[in-house]
Amino acid sequence: MVEHVRSLGRQIVAVMPIHYPRAMLRAHRLHPMEIWGPPYVERHEGSRHFQAYTCDIVLKATSFLRSGGLDGARAILVPHTCDALQGMGSVLGDFLRPDQRVLTLYLPRGRRTSDREFLREELERLAASLVEVGGHRPSKEDWAEAFEAEDAADAALADLYRRRARLAVSDRDFYTVVRSREYVTAEQFCEQAAALPEGDAPHSGVGLMISGIVADPPELFDQIEAMGAYVAGDDLACGFRRVYSQSAEDDPFERAANRLLTSPPDPTCGTPIQARVDSLQSRMRALGARGLLVYDPKFCEPELFDVPLLRKHLSEAGFPVLHVEFEMGETLPHQTLSRIEAFVETLS
Ligand code: SF4
Repeated sequence: MVEHVRSLGRQIVAVMPIHYPRAMLRAHRLHPMEIWGPPYVERHEGSRHFQAYTCDIVLKATSFLRSGGLDGARAILVPHTCDALQGMGSVLGDFLRPDQRVLTLYLPRGRRTSDREFLREELERLAASLVEVGGHRPSKEDWAEAFEAEDAADAALADLYRRRARLAVSDRDFYTVVRSREYVTAEQFCEQAAALPEGDAPHSGVGLMISGIVADPPELFDQIEAMGAYVAGDDLACGFRRVYSQSAEDDPFERAANRLLTSPPDPTCGTPIQARVDSLQSRMRALGARGLLVYDPKFCEPELFDVPLLRKHLSEAGFPVLHVEFEMGETLPHQTLSRIEAFVETLS
């Protein structure tokens, strides 16, 4: 993958979750490779630099970086998704000082005009750093090409979700393609999405909505299927929360800002709880999900804040909620599986 990207004349930027301007990177001849852990990395080295209550995504990404896993990247982009990632940006930039340039992006927590203006200015600031990182200042044509390619990939992702019930693939295979957006090019993603076979989704049993940051390890989907359930829909940061609407402003910074501010409800973006509840309820009804599985990395603050009210309001609306916290690894602990299985049984 790295070689393919380089053959296109682009350099790699490692990007931490969740929201960032993909077209802007492409216009600067850069390519994002996202870092969501990875799950197989030991957390020990990262643990030396953060408080004991830091999530695995930050700990493992720092371990990965310190072990040389990001040596092929020109820069590391750390969006201010949460306090943990803001802390990571500071620790990297001020103390660990890796060879790669550390870039930050402050995302607003609302969707007012002032938030839009703030984000536009933030993106201009980031673009100035990207020129230094990549050595290329985008022309008007570069911007147009980048938006066209990334908009097509965003549309392909939205279309995958629209067609989910008519795709003859398991949940694991579906999410493998959804999550390939984290590292492949826009063109490769469109090809993979278009290649999924049509037909009835092989779903049987109890439909679940899965919410949270990231559904790792992928074995989770096999286990849910073995329990007699399936994923009817998701509210995952690595999934549906990045189904952006398209914008067509002439100004590239306004266009990039508008795209980011049209993402579905997301606790890391400051979505009011009632808006999250309303959206989850209507999607669960439409998709036939009987309960909500909130599946979070341990110590994920933005998610934890919302769980009590989500549980209260969704339970009142007839949708039971199970909250499970997990430690990121290559296998799933029996205790986690037993709790999910017991939840599925109550919904059957
Ligand atoms: S898992 Fe939660 S706390 Fe950790 S980086 Fe993601 S949003 Fe932040």
